[in-house]
Amino acid sequence: MTTNDDAKDRFCGANTRSKKGPCRRPAGWGTSHAGIGRCKFHGGASETHEKAAAMTMARREAASLALTGVQVAPTEALLMALYSAVALTASARERLAAVQVEANAPALTVESAHKVFVESLDRQQKYAESCVRLGIESRQVAAIERFGEAMMSLMVSVVDELGIPKAKSRPVIAAHLANALDEAP
Ligand SMILES: [Zn+2]
Repeated sequence: MTTNDDAKDRFCGANTRSKKGPCRRPAGWGTSHAGIGRCKFHGGASETHEKAAAMTMARREAASLALTGVQVAPTEALLMALYSAVALTASARERLAAVQVEANAPALTVESAHKVFVESLDRQQKYAESCVRLGIESRQVAAIERFGEAMMSLMVSVVDELGIPKAKSRPVIAAHLANALDEAP
């Protein structure tokens, strides 16, 4: 938008058929949408115009959000982190169970799988505690944890049904979950 357009947009601008030229009342004068569109004497208060102005206003709001970067509330970011942590724990639990039943899995492999599981459980616990500290009720936190597990089993069933080998799919899932955790507060 040029500076000229900006100037033009400040006025109603409707043709008045008078020698004075377009209406010079402020845009949206006397209507619910001050600053946008026609004044009330030039159709600004009509239903269609009100609706159009509301859309313009909504678009401007959205554009200004996009410019400043949408700020995610800390609680939202924390909830996302908890979802991911829960899913990552579920993934680590699955891996541990798999190596434990493996006939000749090296002791070190079992040990490290166990370590990863404990670590992820600790992290999940930490996020859950932060949620409660932020005033989220514990039954709500429990519901979020169930949702995280459901999210994980959904991902797992999708990749398994597609026939992607576990050795290939699990690290990919884990990497994406870890990325989500990186963005946590
Ligand atoms: Zn006017």
